[in-house]
Amino acid sequence: MLSLAFIVLSLGTALPLAAATGLPDVLHRDVVVIGGGASGAYAAVRLRDDFNKSIALIEKRDRLGGMVNTYVDEKTGATYDYGVQSFLNVSKAAEFFARFNISIGSGSTSPSLITEYIDFNTGKKVDFTPPSSSKQLAAIAKFLKVIEPWESMLSPGYWNFPQTNNIPEDFLIPFGEFLTKYGLEDGAPLIYSTTGLGVGNMSEVATMFALQSFGWDMARGMTGKMGLFSPTSGGNQALYNAIAKNLGDDVLYSSTVIDSRRTEFGVSLAVRNHKTNKVTRIIARRLLVAIEPTEVNMKPLDLSPSEWNTLSKFTYSNEFTGLVDNAVFNTSYYYFNLPSTAAPNHYLVFQDEPMVASFQYTGLEHLFRVMIIGNTTSTADEAKVLAQNSFNTLLKSGRLSKSIRDQKLSWAAFSMHGPMHARVSVDQVKCGFFQDLYKLQGARSTWWTGGAFSANFQTQLWQFDDGLIPKILEGL
Ligand SMILES: Cc1cc2nc3c(=O)[nH]c(=O)nc-3n(C[C@H](O)[C@H](O)[C@H](O)COP(=O)(O)OP(=O)(O)OC[C@H]3O[C@@H](n4cnc5c(N)ncnc54)[C@H](O)[C@@H]3O)c2cc1C
Repeated sequence: MLSLAFIVLSLGTALPLAAATGLPDVLHRDVVVIGGGASGAYAAVRLRDDFNKSIALIEKRDRLGGMVNTYVDEKTGATYDYGVQSFLNVSKAAEFFARFNISIGSGSTSPSLITEYIDFNTGKKVDFTPPSSSKQLAAIAKFLKVIEPWESMLSPGYWNFPQTNNIPEDFLIPFGEFLTKYGLEDGAPLIYSTTGLGVGNMSEVATMFALQSFGWDMARGMTGKMGLFSPTSGGNQALYNAIAKNLGDDVLYSSTVIDSRRTEFGVSLAVRNHKTNKVTRIIARRLLVAIEPTEVNMKPLDLSPSEWNTLSKFTYSNEFTGLVDNAVFNTSYYYFNLPSTAAPNHYLVFQDEPMVASFQYTGLEHLFRVMIIGNTTSTADEAKVLAQNSFNTLLKSGRLSKSIRDQKLSWAAFSMHGPMHARVSVDQVKCGFFQDLYKLQGARSTWWTGGAFSANFQTQLWQFDDGLIPKILEGL
């Protein structure tokens, strides 16, 4: 029988020279978690504080919170969240804030804005009129009724995803076709402009993946059946800062796994701090992976050919958000990118990615939130160029307050989100992809959470973790 000692010894031979020259600290833990974003930070708190398990949390950045981006205005101290904006009150989400004494309110920090639809490729105004708010909300309520019977198949997570013959046909048709089939077109502008646009041209994405970007809880949130909230002060980062304080030295920041050995008896990870170069070895009985299972992220994780065969089927998109500053923007405006063919009321026509989705006034001086939807290969530099080009187009075509050429956007903040929105082809879904994916849960002492294994919302991931934790704890 293999033992943890065996794992440690065999990993030792694989450690790089840096580790061999200075003996790394060795940490023994019940559970080691990789990734301190929504799913990882939440799981770490619950495992340690609610289930009394020792943990270590490995986070590559110098803060927790992942896709949360809180900008703090140096002059006034005002905050603006240009990444995650609000939390759905799924399950016990509000209680989680309360345990850290973070007060929450329903108020959105966004000022009321004038929306201007523009084709960012040409700079021409698009004479597009969305349905009235009441029509949009009625469509979302109807949408919820249509999708409600399928909820347990996709949310939280794919535990009950049906076998090939029982997959609802509607899951696999393009989302635009689905909305048309059920007469839900009036809901499309709201679905798209809130969270649907993350997957790119939402009309063409298979319905089941569009539902992961705007599904049951978002529909409940929009129609008042579920609360949406955010902290009343300090922005969304306030929660993750409080988690960081609480977890203290159990978090290894600026660190990634550089080598690993995973067996059914436990895991051993070599973790390097990229600021100090120090290598720490973590020996744990369970591993929880809370990062996207991309090739880069998985490289040090000792994947077996069959694990890799499954995980490599995922494709991703990239999103980028930032705050740009330029006095020629008209404050109080929300410049929204739609193709000219969306006029006057073609609600299912969207731009293809990569593209800048919008420039949205933040209420802070001349700062606008920019949202850029990339494709699978888009880089941060390309996203910034795209934003500058779209800005130039708006400027040249007279959409902004002055037609001055060669204005440069200055970036007050920028963040790359991705790869995210993990999805696979319809054929792979039919061939049992999600059953194969979930066979990975628990194998080789490794459990998986995060957007690729559940829905892409903070508190839905917490709910997913709540279901996963008892499984992780079995036999521990
Ligand atoms: C622009 C934008 C706005 C959004 N708005 C909302 C919203 O308003 N409400 C909402 O509920 N959801 C929102 N979401 C979605 C939500 O943020 C995600 O669903 C959620 O953050 C995913 O959580 P996660 O734990 O899977 O990943 P993340 O939160 O991205 O966390 C992953 C963490 O792992 C770290 N990491 C990555 N690779 C490694 C590695 N190799 N080693 C160690 N650490 C690593 C990252 O630094 C990060 O901290 C938004 C997303 C985007 C992009």
